[in-house]
Amino acid sequence: MQRAVRGRLVSFAGDPAESEDAVRYWSDGLVAIDGGRIVAVGDAQAIAPTLPPQTPVDHYPEQLIMPGFIDTHIHYVQIEAIASFGSQLLDWLKNYAFVAEQKFADPDFAAKQARFFLDELLRNGTTTALVYCSVHAHSADALFEEAERRGMAIAAGKVMMDRNVPDGLRDDAASSYADSKALIARWHKRGRARYAITPRFVVSSTPEQLAAAGTLLREHPDCLVQSHLAENLDEIALVRETYPQAASYTDVYHRFGLLGPTTVLGHCIHLAEDEMALLSRTRTVAAFCPTSNLFLGSGLFDLAAMSKKERPVRVSLATDVGGGTSYSMLQTAGAAYKVLQLRDQKLAAYQAFHMMTRGNAHALGLEQEIGTLAPGRYADLVVLDARATPAMRARMAAVHDRLDEELFVLMIMGDDRAVAATYVQGEKRP
Ligand SMILES: [Zn+2]
Repeated sequence: MQRAVRGRLVSFAGDPAESEDAVRYWSDGLVAIDGGRIVAVGDAQAIAPTLPPQTPVDHYPEQLIMPGFIDTHIHYVQIEAIASFGSQLLDWLKNYAFVAEQKFADPDFAAKQARFFLDELLRNGTTTALVYCSVHAHSADALFEEAERRGMAIAAGKVMMDRNVPDGLRDDAASSYADSKALIARWHKRGRARYAITPRFVVSSTPEQLAAAGTLLREHPDCLVQSHLAENLDEIALVRETYPQAASYTDVYHRFGLLGPTTVLGHCIHLAEDEMALLSRTRTVAAFCPTSNLFLGSGLFDLAAMSKKERPVRVSLATDVGGGTSYSMLQTAGAAYKVLQLRDQKLAAYQAFHMMTRGNAHALGLEQEIGTLAPGRYADLVVLDARATPAMRARMAAVHDRLDEELFVLMIMGDDRAVAATYVQGEKRP
């Protein structure tokens, strides 16, 4: 049965950093939905008469309707590690993240946290995410099961880690290969699920395990790969000590066959020119995680350096909860703006909202499924209210017919309160 959502529509036909006319806006638009997918998008006056009689229409006259947000790096097993005081990456992992992740040895706890996590994403308008699970294979099962129940497109993987981690969180090269392989068989491309091969980072894997991850990718080249790169200076020093023969941290992943167009590496803050060139050449994605980089004192992402015309690195935007401090992609975009201000670079609102939607869909290879309002795409939508709080309402009194200004208010002042509704496959959730 058809249904429809009507209001002010915003979508991107291209990257606004490259082309002025990438923005698509309908002041009174309509998205017609059938079987969970978009079947028509355009002016309400033109499309409404073509709908079957009695088609239910949700009308949002003031709000903005956009493709649902996409988060390209988040740890669902760190729900209890967010907002943990006082340390930088390596100590933070030891003192907080690894403590939180050990509780996922209990499958019931994993199922409960998976439910909370996906509800929280949807409350924040995020309909798709690339997610780290714990070392326990059943933590990935729990997340995929819950996502399937909600009809959400979730990509995820169990972390592989066999050194420099507590006993309760250690697998080994052979078991991590076998567990990941079984999860791929069980979940990859089952409905909307995608599997991500997930060696946590170079520091927590033996060479044998990184080789096993590379083998998994060779055997399943359409799987995603996710890991961390060049987040923190102590981490980088440790990698250099462990792999003196490698040219760089990035080169370690390259040696094990882990770079490529389906690989998303979190942070990528402290990179030399040859490392950025290697990321560019392999079409690897760098996930910019601004709230995490500020919170853990890791450093300032250099978007201009990444975007150099002669060797552009693909960049996505992500929360990195629990190192990150908010599930909200709006807050994340606001933090990205501030990080870039400290580098005297600018993140325009159109560019930020493009990253959260179409850009991140491209980063995950899902651009034919999500990220734009277009026929054939899934009807995963977020409805945003730039007047959600008294302070936002007061600020919006000075905004007259400027879509970019309204979006900027949303990314600087907005959070879950600015999310009026979220739709997954045309159904309002949660
Ligand atoms: Zn992370």
